Amino acid sequence: MIQIRSDYAGGNIKVVSVDEVVRVEQEIRDSAYWWFYWSFCIRCDEERDVVFEFTNGEVVGPWGPAYSLDGIHWEWLGAQSVLSAKSFVYRFAPDHPEVYFAFSLPYQVRHFERFYERIKTLPIVRRDILCLTKKQTEVPLLLVGSADAPEHLFFCSRHHACESTVNYVLEGLLAFLIEDHPASGFLERYCIHFVPFVDIDGVENGDQGKGRAPHDHNRDYVEQPIYAVTPAIMRFVRALRPVVGMDFHCPHKWGERNDHVFIVKTGTGADRRIERFGQALSELSRGLDDARDIPYDPANDIEMGDDWNQPYPTCSSFMIQENVPMAFSIKIPYFGLVEGQYTADSLRRLGGRMAQALKIYLCEKSV
Ligand SMILES: [Zn+2]
Repeated sequence: MIQIRSDYAGGNIKVVSVDEVVRVEQEIRDSAYWWFYWSFCIRCDEERDVVFEFTNGEVVGPWGPAYSLDGIHWEWLGAQSVLSAKSFVYRFAPDHPEVYFAFSLPYQVRHFERFYERIKTLPIVRRDILCLTKKQTEVPLLLVGSADAPEHLFFCSRHHACESTVNYVLEGLLAFLIEDHPASGFLERYCIHFVPFVDIDGVENGDQGKGRAPHDHNRDYVEQPIYAVTPAIMRFVRALRPVVGMDFHCPHKWGERNDHVFIVKTGTGADRRIERFGQALSELSRGLDDARDIPYDPANDIEMGDDWNQPYPTCSSFMIQENVPMAFSIKIPYFGLVEGQYTADSLRRLGGRMAQALKIYLCEKSV
């Protein structure tokens, strides 16, 4: 007896058939083109191998699915589980009849709440509500830094609901600055304003969120926005006047540049500043063990005008227009490379190096 469900935060699956082989596919929902996100929970009380086949494209990554026993802690099932880019196998054990599988390492609101619980009593941490969505969901805004800080940094993520790996990086980035603060005083000078879930309803619904019709959240920086959160971000950034604005994304599923961390260049004067930040980040990546830590090489960055990087009305192009001196979007892959598959912790350590690179960039800027 096999039972499959997706009635939890982030769940997304269509069950095609359950026989010897379990056939499923991702729900594309309102995305105007094919995308690859899926997540489901399955119960099987027998001790046996179950083969899973996906019937809509290649959506099984190089280390197989992310899997979890509790829906909170996720790791990769492993390359040995992969039968093809459309299929994997899992052996159910009697002590764990119920398991979760997902395309990549999920990060839901419950993960953010666990992170917030650990830092919420610190005097430099505050929490606010950016706005309500059209469904009346509160969009959280996390503030890390002194309320009197003269300068501000703005971070946001999940304009595209399924792009989950970025939030582990942001946890690491914030945790680094919080730990470093008593010695450095960095958070007296700079206050961080972070919107972890721009499309919070999409994240919790388990939507793809990418390429929504008629357009998605990151194409909504237009005169007549269709979502409630985008005009709220525009008002907020205009009033805040941050010195750094970073919008975190994942790239396409895998292959070529998509297997590397890269920055989306802007084609403006901000690119020189982005390059200084990138230089600092790549120097911090030097000498790391690539099997354990996620490298960054500016050679993978994409210039404005190349391929899909065109002057669309995105969050980062909005920030550039508003004269944020260094604004850009950065892409964090879903999987990583053969010699260094991503984990929640390696993503957090990458965030720690980004925090160091930001400190170096901001320190040079003020000299
Ligand atoms: Zn994105």
